[in-house]
Amino acid sequence: MPDQPFDLVVIGSGPGGYVAAIRAAQLGLRTAVVEKDSVLGGTCLNIGCIPSKALLYSTEIYHTVATRGAVHGLKVGKLTPDIAALMQRKTEVVGKLTGGVKLLLEKRGVAIIQGTGRLAAAGRVVEVTAANGSIQKLDTKNVLVATGSSSVELPFLKFDGRLVVSSDQAIAFPEVPAKLVVVGAGAIGLELGSVWARLGSEVTVVEMLPRIAPAYDEDVSRLAQRLLQKQGLKFELGAKVTGVKFERGQSFLTAQRDGQPLLFPADKILVAVGRKPNTAGLGAAEIGLALDPQGRVIVDDHYRTNVSGVFAIGDVIAGPMLAHKAEEEGVACVELIAGKAGHVNYAAIPNVIYTEPEIASVGLGETDAKAKGIPFRIGKFNLAANGRALASDAADGFVKIIADPKTDRLLGAQILAHNASELIAAVTPHLEYGGSAEDVARTIYAHPTMAEAIKEAALAVDSRAIHAL
Ligand SMILES: Cc1cc2nc3c(=O)[nH]c(=O)nc-3n(C[C@H](O)[C@H](O)[C@H](O)COP(=O)(O)OP(=O)(O)OC[C@H]3O[C@@H](n4cnc5c(N)ncnc54)[C@H](O)[C@@H]3O)c2cc1C
Repeated sequence: MPDQPFDLVVIGSGPGGYVAAIRAAQLGLRTAVVEKDSVLGGTCLNIGCIPSKALLYSTEIYHTVATRGAVHGLKVGKLTPDIAALMQRKTEVVGKLTGGVKLLLEKRGVAIIQGTGRLAAAGRVVEVTAANGSIQKLDTKNVLVATGSSSVELPFLKFDGRLVVSSDQAIAFPEVPAKLVVVGAGAIGLELGSVWARLGSEVTVVEMLPRIAPAYDEDVSRLAQRLLQKQGLKFELGAKVTGVKFERGQSFLTAQRDGQPLLFPADKILVAVGRKPNTAGLGAAEIGLALDPQGRVIVDDHYRTNVSGVFAIGDVIAGPMLAHKAEEEGVACVELIAGKAGHVNYAAIPNVIYTEPEIASVGLGETDAKAKGIPFRIGKFNLAANGRALASDAADGFVKIIADPKTDRLLGAQILAHNASELIAAVTPHLEYGGSAEDVARTIYAHPTMAEAIKEAALAVDSRAIHAL
């Protein structure tokens, strides 16, 4: 531990915190990371992005072989999933990455301090309480709050870890629940719903809004719902959840639609209705750190809070709760602290739901543009007319490009496709550099690739798609 104060103490080692710490060390700041969990990496690496994608990948292989194997000339006997092996692989992937984060921090000379961090002395000291109760005080010039978020609990549907669970448990069920009811049709609900449905669970997704994936365009939601229904997921939309009921040895989720009571038998209920910022116990009230009505730390465009020397980034502040958003904010914040020109372009943050097909967007959507009265033109191209998609048995979905009708400037894109998470990366740079639909249309994509559908959609903005009638 240095005699002099740290230049920066980061509270939280999620993607926001650990990336910020690495960048700070690169910039020559004496940096420490305080983490309350025994492993580094935060929600994303331990119970979020990475383990969910590991499960999605394993179950996609299983489901594809089970349902499409014969079409591809694969004759296999009865396939049975081995949940313990699947979870073991997930754990190994997580272990490699969290170990990697530790190594990266150590190699950069970042001090890793295990314990719960609390702001003290007007943000010039971080008090760290270790698991054994001992308290360590870290003097610092700056503090970065990167404490992330946790699952929101519904007051009438409290988590009990047994029947009513959050994604923290649903990412590690030891066996396939016969009947899984998922509350919430956003990214987490649809992804974990898909995982367990592919493994044989009877999954019902109950959503208060009239459509699934409501952050995306309406046509994307509609087709995604149809395709997921084909995979066995059931959707109950416009249904307001009211609680749980037990009858003759069976548990039920209770809900209402148009005043009518609804009852869904459930062996597990996954509540995936959003996440809330982690500020409890942080000492916010004691040092006068300003929070908004949702409990998020209020920051300006340089990630400065109202307390001098205290900054915040990631899920604990406003904006989309995404790992890459947290990372970019971490880097920008630290660069600003070091006197450089850190910047995050909030208009070009991609957003993905990793179902099959995946749902991805960047920038402005058509539904949003309509709601905001922003003029736009769209070009849409169906994957059914894309050679690689057909060859890969992935012809469901489409690419949509949204552009300014006057200047042709690219406004956004929505993609429903196998690997849409990778495809959206072919559009994002055009948006980042202020490109036009014409720029996308003139970009050469290798043949045959699904990315060619992006070019076709961009051509369709000007009604000149080649492989469309
Ligand atoms: C199931 C699931 C799937 C997801 N999938 C994706 C995805 O595919 N893509 C994506 O972009 N995002 C995904 N997310 C969201 C993503 O995980 C978060 O946006 C991201 O982790 C936020 O990063 P963060 O650094 O702000 O916070 P976190 O990752 O939450 O990290 C915060 C860290 O701070 C620690 N901490 C909190 N309080 C204290 C304290 N007082 N002292 C010390 N340490 C503290 C916590 O233990 C934690 O390690 C998913 C989330 C879930 C739950």
